[in-house]
Order: sequence, then C-alpha cells, then structure tokens
Amino acid sequence: MATAATPTPPATPERLSSYNPATGEPIGSVPIHTQADVDAAVARARVAAETWSGRSFAARAEELTAFRKALAASADELAELLRRENGKPELEALVEVMMALGHLQHAAARAEAALAPRRVSAGLLANFRATISYHPLGVVGVIGPWNYPLFTPMGSIAYALAAGNAVVWKPSELTPLVAVKVAEIAARSFALPDLLQVVTGAGATGAALARAAIDKIAFTGSAATGKRVMMAAAERLTPVLLELGGKDPMIVAEDADVEKAAEACVYGALTNAGQACISVERVYVADAIHDRFVEEVVKQVRDLKIGGDDGHLGAMTSPAQVAIVKDHLEDAVAKGAQIRTGGPDAIAGNFIQPTVLTGVDHNMKVMRDETFGPVIPIRRVASIDEAVKLANDTQYGLGSSVFAGKSARRIAQLLRAGMTSINSVMGFAGIPSLPFGGIGDSGFGRIHGDEGIREFTRIKSTAEQVVSIPLNMMSFRQPTDAPKRIRGMIKQLYGDGMVARAADVWRKLRG
Ligand code: NAD
Repeated sequence: MATAATPTPPATPERLSSYNPATGEPIGSVPIHTQADVDAAVARARVAAETWSGRSFAARAEELTAFRKALAASADELAELLRRENGKPELEALVEVMMALGHLQHAAARAEAALAPRRVSAGLLANFRATISYHPLGVVGVIGPWNYPLFTPMGSIAYALAAGNAVVWKPSELTPLVAVKVAEIAARSFALPDLLQVVTGAGATGAALARAAIDKIAFTGSAATGKRVMMAAAERLTPVLLELGGKDPMIVAEDADVEKAAEACVYGALTNAGQACISVERVYVADAIHDRFVEEVVKQVRDLKIGGDDGHLGAMTSPAQVAIVKDHLEDAVAKGAQIRTGGPDAIAGNFIQPTVLTGVDHNMKVMRDETFGPVIPIRRVASIDEAVKLANDTQYGLGSSVFAGKSARRIAQLLRAGMTSINSVMGFAGIPSLPFGGIGDSGFGRIHGDEGIREFTRIKSTAEQVVSIPLNMMSFRQPTDAPKRIRGMIKQLYGDGMVARAADVWRKLRG
C-alpha cells in the first residue's frame, strides 16, 4: 500500500494547484477566477443562452450527442484525470465516465418529451384552454464537489443544457483539471463555445458564482456550504437546487439473502473509499441473522485490495476527510464499539483500511454525522419497527436500502429518504429516468429524470378563452342578478347541490 504525503492546500494568489492524493504530487494548476472573471463568464453564457434556447430540441439533441461522443472518445483521458485528482481506482474512474455519459444521453433524448406543453383541465372555466409549458431559465450556475467530479456535476449540466440553458460550472478546488478538460471538449463540440464554461478557484469563486446574475444555482456539496450558497443566492432571489450530504441507512431483514446483502453492503459502503453522498453509512440487521451477516461482511472486506492500479479502494481525496473518519472511529471506540477489521490505527497517509464496527449506537458520531469514508457500522435490531425508527433517526434523508423478502416494499415506503434501493444499493443513481435528490439536510430539488429536466425551466401557465359565455367572471359588466347566480353556483358546485353531490358520488365510485 502506498502512503501519501499530505498535500498542503494549494495556492498562490493567481493559480490553484491540483494534487494526486495517492502520492501528494502536484499534477497541474488552474487560474483562480475572481468575481469579475465569473461575471464576465456569466455575461458570455447569457449571449450563448439566447441562441441556444431558440434552437429546436432536435438541434440541441444533435449538438449534445456530438458533445457526448467527443467525451466518450476521451474516456481514457478523463478517467486518468479522475484517478489522478481524486485517487479512485481505474475501474471506478471508468464507471464514473460511463455513468456521466449515460445521463448526458438520457437528458438529450428525453428533453422534448419531458418539456412538451401539457393541456390540463380548465375546471369551472370550461370555455378556456389551459396549458402548462416549460421554458429555459437562461444561465445556470453549477458548483460541484470532489468525490464524483464528473458524474455529479453532469447530473445538473446535462439536464440544464438539454432544457435549453447555458451553464457556468465551478468544480471543486480539489478536482478542477477534469472540469477544464470537459470545458475544452465542450468548446470544440458546440457551435456556441460559451455554452458550457468552467470557472476555477476555491470557495470564493463558488461564492462569486452564487452572487452572480445567474438564473439558478445547482449546488452539490456539504450542508454547511449549501446554506452559505443559499444565503448568497437570496440577494438576487436566485432559485437554488441543493444536493447535499447523507447518512444513508441499510436495513437487512431476517428473510434477506445474507450473502447478497453483505456483498451489496460492502460495495455500497466502500465504493469510492466511502466518499459517496449515497454511501451506505449505517446498517441495521435483524437479530436472527446479525452474526452471520457480520461474519460475511468481514470476510468480504478482508478480500479487498487497497491502493495500486487494480485496487478496489483508492486514496481518500482530501486529508481533511481522513481526519474526520479517524475522529469518528476514535469516538465510536471510546463509546464502546467493537472493531472487526480496520480501525483508527489502520490509517496511513490518505489510505484508510476499510473498517467494520459492531456494537454501535446513535450516541456515536459514526451513526449520526456523515463519515464519508470506508466504514461499515453494523447495529443489531430486535425488529423491523426498530430498524425503521433508527433508520429515520437522522437530520439527513438522501438514499437508503432494504434487503428483505416479501416485506421489502413495505419497509421501503416507511423510510424517510429521497431514494430507496430494494435488494440492491445505489440502483436509483444509475437509472437516469429516476429523479435524484433528498430531504432535510440532504437538500431539495431534483436532478435526473423528467423532474431533473424541468428543474432547469420556468413553468408558464396559459389560459386561453376559446368560447365566450354569458356569465363572464373576468368582467365588471355583469347582469344585476349575478350575485344570486353565484350563490346558486356555490351551492350547486361546492355545497349540497345536486351537481356537487353527483361529483362526490362519482369520485367515491372511482375510488
Ligand atoms: P464542499 O461543500 O466543501 O464544497 C463543494 C463546492 O462548494 C466546492 O466546489 C467548493 O469550492 C464550493 N464552495 C465552498 N465554499 C463556498 C461558498 N461559500 N460559496 C459557494 N461555493 C463554495 O463539499 P465537498 O467536500 O466538495 O463535497 C463533499 C460533500 O458533497 C459531502 O457532504 C457529500 O455528501 C456531498 N455530495 C452530495 C451529492 C448529492 O448529490 N447529494 C453528491 C456528491 C457529494
């Protein structure tokens, strides 16, 4: 296993360096963009947005397809940058590229159907034609994290572009090079070179984007920063979409397939070295199978290779995150948790040996705060009711998973989370038609799916009068008996009148 020197966070006043977390080597640098730079990028994006929003869905889909193909042709280069900046193994880097491209393909193909104008019932105003239509916002700012530097921002970028917007993207200061590469490819692929621009820098550049004259900000990162972004956006009443952290629970019921549940748990907790917003962060296992499950998880974890080109787990991306994981492990051990493998002493530089803990409870940080590292805390539960109660005992509400027999769907519905996988982990993230997002401290708004396309539009309601009727409510020119007629209508339509009673009976009959 390689050990890494702790990279000192970068920066001369003008440029920001990106480091390989596995070796501590600097691998490149990018400019630190100021408020003036960000404002200029937004102004250029606005010009691009005017043309782009006027194009047909088919024309946009064609350019997005060209962009996707160009990214696919550079898949190896992108994966290599992901590996070097983020520390993830080759396979995970390639999977990230593949998943990002899947969303780009889906958003381009689906935008026209998701944004088709919809005719809805005009209700009482039956002489009207009522329509809902969706229109591009203009310029969308995207601020991304370091854990999935391509896949995560693409969940906003692809959908915002497909909906007819231009994008200005501020990647994490820990992983800017992959974003710069994507922007280069975008500038070559799109007829409008300013359609997707990247501005680089640390928090101050992100704050500049949140303050800029944009039409929406899509932020992915921690809850603490999300609050700051929302406060900055409030100045201009810029709408915000927040994809924040999680503390995802997994429930394993007595009738689950123990080996499959253990396999999924190990992957869900440890993929990307546990640095996923939808990582399995807490596991609740039925008493009857708890010991067998723990044994199986420990066995599978011991088979994993840490570090190296073909490793299952790479380096942690950020030294600050290593410190948080160590703190959670030490806190758990001090409060009585048992280490089954790994532990706070099994950390060398940015590499953490995957750690399985048992005997954990909700007084421990590892069960309450986002750990964001390769840790599997497993708790024994006496019943599914207890498991659900504990799973929902969190301020977060992003993903979740259930392993069970026939009770699985019922349990899934009881979980207070934006997304649930049944007899699998993280499945919802790989299905582009499913909206992705959370509740509570995990944020609000949705990326992916039709909801994720509509998220980057403004909704317009149109009421068109197609026939004139004698009692025109939108006029002062009313007959003298109008009040009497309205009283009659209120009774008939909403009170005890025949029409209201018939409507109630009809609704009951339809169930
Ligand atoms: P972070 O909050 O530290 O940083 C995220 C981004 O915000 C970075 O680009 C950073 O430069 C920028 N930023 C920092 N201060 C800012 C400010 N004042 N104004 C505007 N931007 C600012 O998060 P991180 O450590 O990069 O990412 C890890 C977090 O992201 C975890 O909590 C993880 O769960 C979460 N995450 C969530 C999702 C999701 O879809 N829900 C996906 C991936 C990661």
